[in-house]
Amino acid sequence: MKFPVTKNPNPGTMPEASKLGFGSVFSDHMFLMDYNAKDGWHDARIVPYGPLSLSPAASVLHYAGEVFEGLKAYRRKDGKVQLFRHDANVERLNISAERIGLPQVPVDVAMAAIEQLVELDQAWVPSAPGTSLYIRPFLFATDPALALHGVHEAMFVIILSPSGSYYAEGLNPVKIMLETEDVRAVRGGTGYTKCGGNYAASNRAGDRAMQKGYSQVLWLDGVERKYVEEVGAMNVMFKIDGKVITPMLTGSILSGITRRSCIQMLKSWGMEVEERLISIDELVEAAENGKLEEAWGTGTAAVISPIGELCYKDVKYTINGFEIGPTAQKLYDELTGLQWGDKPDPFGWTKVIGE
Ligand SMILES: *Cc1c(COP(=O)(O)O)cnc(C)c1O
Repeated sequence: MKFPVTKNPNPGTMPEASKLGFGSVFSDHMFLMDYNAKDGWHDARIVPYGPLSLSPAASVLHYAGEVFEGLKAYRRKDGKVQLFRHDANVERLNISAERIGLPQVPVDVAMAAIEQLVELDQAWVPSAPGTSLYIRPFLFATDPALALHGVHEAMFVIILSPSGSYYAEGLNPVKIMLETEDVRAVRGGTGYTKCGGNYAASNRAGDRAMQKGYSQVLWLDGVERKYVEEVGAMNVMFKIDGKVITPMLTGSILSGITRRSCIQMLKSWGMEVEERLISIDELVEAAENGKLEEAWGTGTAAVISPIGELCYKDVKYTINGFEIGPTAQKLYDELTGLQWGDKPDPFGWTKVIGE
């Protein structure tokens, strides 16, 4: 499957790695595909990166019919470019779309679109350590009418953004604040989807945490505010008394691909992993008894983000002396080794572009 390409007549140049940052530089091309109820998905194409034209009444702007994905392409030492579990991202995009009432994208089309776009713009995959090409597929409702009548028109877009190293200054632990007022999601809601609306609901708490010097919030469940769910845009794992414990997927938590990969890796090393409800009281008690050995977030952007401090109701709990622990470090080393192609991939998670 190959899509028609309109070449960018004014290709850009890639900034040096130290100036890349995250999500603000874009490659030369993007993928577009349109949907309407009569023709289904049609007119898949690759065109120069640039503004989209939308009706001011487009329903995404009013009713937030939008879902997205985030994945990366990595430059290997041999110069080749590879993807990590992009099939899982496409599958999740459709799970999200189904929940929001958006049309699902044919899996083979979305996979081929990611592959062809990355291959075309592979010069935009940076090669400095820790850098990558961030891939952002997104899908939204474009019905040009304010009436709420279901989605009859939609657009699927993929854009590419070369990104700097998340850990320019090393794998530093972060400070996290428990959010006790706002909630992100409830069971039966959209917490398990990657939809823009979830982020809108999270902004206020994130801003408040930031003002207090914390980098993210740790969400509690939306009903009892008792069980730990996830941290900012990452899933969360704790090592308590030698065991790794991570919140189970109750419907209000995103099923992270990094989370899934970590669980599989940990188990392959013979470590015990429990996916279950974990209450904030259990966590605080473990911290007080010195049994909370490590905590870290998992997500595509940071891969592993060690948590050095948790703040709950104004009490601060330092974890592992604000140092990265051995389990988080090993997960980071093994997962990034596999993603950048420095280590073998016994799980079959990577796909080399053009092979
Ligand atoms: C994207 C995301 C994650 C992490 O998912 P990955 O597939 O590992 O990148 C976790 N939580 C939320 C809310 C997210 O949006």
